[in-house]
Amino acid sequence: MWPYHPDLLDRAVPRYTSFPTAAEFRPLPGDDMLPDAIAACDGDVSLYLHIPFCEQICWYCGCNTGAANKAQRLSAYLDALMHEVTLVAGQLPDRCRVARIAFGGGSPNAIAPIAYVRLLDRVLTAFSTHAPVISVELDPRGFTEEWAQVLGATGVTNVSLGVQTFDSAIQERIGRVQPLAMIEHAVGGLRRHGVRSINFDLMYGLPGQGMDGLDATLATTIDMAPERIALFGYAHVPHLLPRQRRIDASALPDQAMRFAMAARGYETLRAAGYEAVGFDHFALPHDPMAAAAREGTLRRNFQGFTDDQAERLIGLGASAISIFPDRIIQNEKNAGRYRMRLSQDQLTGTLGLMRSRDDRDRGMVIEDILCARPTDLSQISGALPMTALEPFIERGLARIDGDLLIPTDATRPYARSIAALFDPYRAQTPQRFSSAV
Ligand code: SF4
Repeated sequence: MWPYHPDLLDRAVPRYTSFPTAAEFRPLPGDDMLPDAIAACDGDVSLYLHIPFCEQICWYCGCNTGAANKAQRLSAYLDALMHEVTLVAGQLPDRCRVARIAFGGGSPNAIAPIAYVRLLDRVLTAFSTHAPVISVELDPRGFTEEWAQVLGATGVTNVSLGVQTFDSAIQERIGRVQPLAMIEHAVGGLRRHGVRSINFDLMYGLPGQGMDGLDATLATTIDMAPERIALFGYAHVPHLLPRQRRIDASALPDQAMRFAMAARGYETLRAAGYEAVGFDHFALPHDPMAAAAREGTLRRNFQGFTDDQAERLIGLGASAISIFPDRIIQNEKNAGRYRMRLSQDQLTGTLGLMRSRDDRDRGMVIEDILCARPTDLSQISGALPMTALEPFIERGLARIDGDLLIPTDATRPYARSIAALFDPYRAQTPQRFSSAV
């Protein structure tokens, strides 16, 4: 059982899907920063295509997405995205190969299967690819047999399903009703059509959720045997996400209960044969994500934990984020302005930052901590937060051996809090983040 130390978890901290985090993004000084970074690319490049539409909007959702109920808006967006694919492919040097293609959102299956096929075809035609790993995020609501066939036929190997909970009363309380039969139908279709790695996104800390409810969801999940599971703590930040105001805050579990739920998830999934991946993911031993965690090659990027080793990820679509060794750039978030810029043959990177040497060194330490592996603190040339680390070391939540900071299994729920000690930007904007557990 993980030891609970609430005083070490009382600070709101980022999820560190990048370092520096998106809170540090600023308007870019010129339009050249994204084209320059693309022109300087080398080696394997990963692509992320953002589909910011969903059939129905869940009340808890923190994604940049909107309702897919206006055919004209959706088709105008897809036209712009196709054009962006062509523009970026034209600027990427011939020496680069695309090895991963991820569709996320929103819900990529909010568009028609034929529109997805056209989009993927454009990507495969425009870029130089090499047997790319293709992954797609899916909403089980509205998932059809046609989608299963299309994903299988287009060689998709990795799919992530938004499940969250199987408890129908809690589903009502978070605005996402999807009966068990719907999930079973989706999983059955994906398996029949050859998708070999299925992820379930689950959540704890939901309104009205108790330990029994979490246990039941975990048991059903284990029966269905997805290769990967992400068990997220629900982040209630209605001051940042107005759609969360529909969620009854008085029914949310307190921090002690959230911690106990995270610990229960860890113990239950480990006992069922899943390996822990980072601080909140799990994978069956044969899955490449589990292998990456075991071998120390796990990475963390805007999609969460990944076994993708590419140093360059190009985000396509409104609000999509591109990451390069020396800079991080986010596309225009507003869909209208995004389309407008592309109609003028301009890429839309508008926000971001340059990563200094110190940022990159600290980023490596933070990534190691979140990926639950030893990290070499001598990578950081500036001052180390040794005094702030002491309470974690004294309570056995990590140990120091020479220059190495070495995690234990009990480090996992404290990983974000420990990582934040190495983040010099954090003193400035703590209110933007969520509970550490
Ligand atoms: S389906 Fe996913 S992206 Fe869409 S609103 Fe629900 S949680 Fe958000």
